[in-house]
Amino acid sequence: MGPILPTVSQQAKPQDFDIANKCSYNGAVIVQRSLDLHEKIELLGQQAQYDLCEAAGQPVPLPDHGAAGHPRVPDVSRSVATVIGRGGRPVPLLRVLQTSACEKNCYYCPFRAGRSLRRATLQPEELALAFDQMQRKGLVQGLFLSSGIVGTVRSMDRMLATVELVRRKYGWRGYVHLKLLPEAEEAQVEAAVQLADRVSVNLEAPNEVRLARLAPKKDLAHGLVEPLRRAWRIVQQQRRAGRRVVSAGASTQFVVGPAGESDRELLVASQMLYREVGLRRAYYSAFHPVPDTPLEDAAPTSPLREHRLYQADAMLRQYGFRAEELPFDRDGNLPLDRDPKQAWAEAHPELFPVEVNTAPQSLLLRVPGIGPRSAAAIVAARRQAALRSLEDLRRLGVRTDLAAAYVLLDGRAPLRQLALSV
Ligand code: SF4
Repeated sequence: MGPILPTVSQQAKPQDFDIANKCSYNGAVIVQRSLDLHEKIELLGQQAQYDLCEAAGQPVPLPDHGAAGHPRVPDVSRSVATVIGRGGRPVPLLRVLQTSACEKNCYYCPFRAGRSLRRATLQPEELALAFDQMQRKGLVQGLFLSSGIVGTVRSMDRMLATVELVRRKYGWRGYVHLKLLPEAEEAQVEAAVQLADRVSVNLEAPNEVRLARLAPKKDLAHGLVEPLRRAWRIVQQQRRAGRRVVSAGASTQFVVGPAGESDRELLVASQMLYREVGLRRAYYSAFHPVPDTPLEDAAPTSPLREHRLYQADAMLRQYGFRAEELPFDRDGNLPLDRDPKQAWAEAHPELFPVEVNTAPQSLLLRVPGIGPRSAAAIVAARRQAALRSLEDLRRLGVRTDLAAAYVLLDGRAPLRQLALSV
């Protein structure tokens, strides 16, 4: 763990609380009663579910913390999100915002400035203490911390101060995912990379033109991609120096649909980030309109489109495809009625069938129904004995219902009847 960086200040400014504890309704400003710590953890945990960079499902309804009073006992477990960790293990995280106050006006966002909403702010010591208590009780095994923006530098400093307390005062050595705010400074990015296991920046849109339709105050190249680039540069420098750095890499999120972008635009942007800034994961979040935002009347995006984007993204990350090869239609979109890998195979009959006993692993990966694990298993198994039946492939993890039409087994096409029976 590196030293505490001098840029990190831990004190909130009074004006933050002014923003956090006021909301407006029909032009009237309402000052809300202060929430206690558990109420704030519950509220800011629920509000953090709008950020999907840990891929833990869709937002759920927010608890009622109205200005008139709070009739419920706060339930901090509502701020726990379960994510899938290494080896497919479910990991409960405290997923929470440092503050839901924000000075920006992104068109899709429930936290945009001026929108009537119950807001709250957690001080670093409050949040670090709450996390320590929750992890000691076994409620959580990690922290995912994001935030609205009330001055980028100040808001980022406060998040860093929280994670420093979690690490140094409370001795937590487990998983921490820390959001980098737009235009985070070099020293802040460096501190984040030292403190967190994963960092992320939400790009929201694949290029400047699309971003202008979603978040006109954000600057894609300088404000959003640059922090990722800095993080990657620092990771490489520190690895060379043999220091501990973010082990889970960087991730980002796109809002899919309301900017009119195509799937090609999204996947080309993801490919650039995978190649140039060492991005580990891109998340695609189907748009859901939020009342009282400029996009409240925009159509929601189909979850099926989101699903196809994830399948195509896996083709880039795990299967050796380039974005230019993906089966886009004339408008640059993926087919919705089929897995994109199957659509690609159907468009390339000249490459099939593939002899599974001799094909290179890179070609096996292009067969529908064969994934990275089953391709590796095939290569290992065929060193011992020739693979002669669909049952042999099925035992190695192949989806034989998909693969049967595209393979040869020791020179023979498999019996398709068998494919239907397994
Ligand atoms: S910066 Fe934009 S997306 Fe982030 S919380 Fe503020 S309004 Fe929402």
